[in-house]
This record gives sequence, C-alpha cells and structure tokens, in this order.
Amino acid sequence: MRCLTAQAGSVPSLCPSGNTRSRGQPPHGTQTYRRRGRERTIRLRYGNTNTYLIRGNRGNLLVDTDYAGTLPGFYKAIKPHGIRVRDIAYVLATHYHPDHMGLIPELMHQGVKLLLMETQRDSVHFSDPIFARDRLPFAPIDETAAAVIRCADSRGFLESLGIKGEILSTPSHSPDSVSLLLDCGDCFVGDLEPIEYLDACPGTCPLRDDWERILRRRPKRILYAHVNERVLENEGQ
Ligand SMILES: [Zn+2]
Repeated sequence: MRCLTAQAGSVPSLCPSGNTRSRGQPPHGTQTYRRRGRERTIRLRYGNTNTYLIRGNRGNLLVDTDYAGTLPGFYKAIKPHGIRVRDIAYVLATHYHPDHMGLIPELMHQGVKLLLMETQRDSVHFSDPIFARDRLPFAPIDETAAAVIRCADSRGFLESLGIKGEILSTPSHSPDSVSLLLDCGDCFVGDLEPIEYLDACPGTCPLRDDWERILRRRPKRILYAHVNERVLENEGQ
C-alpha cells in the first residue's frame, strides 16, 4: 500500500555522497545479488511487491510477501533458485499492509517461523478485514507462534541465522514499519518514501528522521518494495 508515486528528483543533501544511480528492474521475475558479505540477496517478484530472500549461513530469511492468493506465484518464483519453502527459516514483514504479508499464515502453516518485531505487535491483524472484504484465502496470523524481538536485539537474532545486520524501526510510513540493514550494504526499506521525497520535507519530519537513522549506517543500496532500487556509491567505503 503506497501513499505516493515515485518521481525523479534531486538528491537530497542528506545523501552521504550525492553520487547515486538507479537501476531499472523487470516487472516480474527474480534477480540474485552477490555482495561482499556472505549473504546473498534474491529478489522474488510475483505480484506488485518486491520481496527478498536473504540467504544466511545458518538460515534463510524472507523479507515481505505479496498479497493473499499469490502462493502459486511465490512457488514459481523460488523454484529457479532451488529454494523450497522448508529452506526458509523465518519471514519478516516490513509492515502489515496487505501487499507485504498476505502469505505469512500459509508459510507459517508450512513451518516458516514469523519474526515479529515488538513494534509490530499491534498491527499484525491490520489487513484481516481487507482480505475478508476481498474474499481472499487468508487465515489470520497466529502471533502466539511468532518469535517476538526488540529492534535492539535484532543483530543478535540475525547472527543466529548467520546474517550480519540489524532491524530498525522506521515508522514514517506506518507505525509498524521497519527496515533491515545488512552489513554488506543492502538496505530493505519496504514502503518507506523514497529518499528524493526529502526535498518536499522541510526541517524535521518523520521521513527525515527515518532516513537519517538509516544513512547513519552508511548503506550502499536501497531496496524498495515498489520502486527501483537506489545505489549509493560512496567513495571511501
Ligand atoms: Zn505500506
């Protein structure tokens, strides 16, 4: 669920170097990224949302799913990578809008564990009435089966999967929104408004707060759920 349409714009002064470029993306399909770290990021697109699988040394993490009813497309998307559902240890939703979490109950039913941030607890059922209205196959999430952690504990949790990174609360899009930053530089922001929008955000605002928190970690690539990725090329990194 996006609030605004992405537009090209000047690079905000907040950007670490101002030296950026965007990469186009095919409308559907998958793409694998090899990074300096040992993680591997795989983009899985089988609807309108970019979702990602992060391969950890001790477990794989799925970041977001598409809408309810997209399970056949999900199966098709993971197949070329030799991934089965049972190879996915955890699923994390960047937030609980319907186009980011519609497959979570079905994946949990197949053994994938839900990684739920403490800041997301009150939002888990946000989309239940939307799916009910649309008469889509969706059983509400059983959050009692989730691993609930605080953002402050996320680095240790991810380490248990062999993934180096952390999860930050970035609530400007919705109170439950989080971003995942890997130490290799990949940063998954879900529906966070693109960095260019800071031009229209004078002074302090929630969006600027979120981006400042993210950019302090010096990410190299911003992976959005609905717009093209943004590569931040920072000299000296
Ligand atoms: Zn959203």
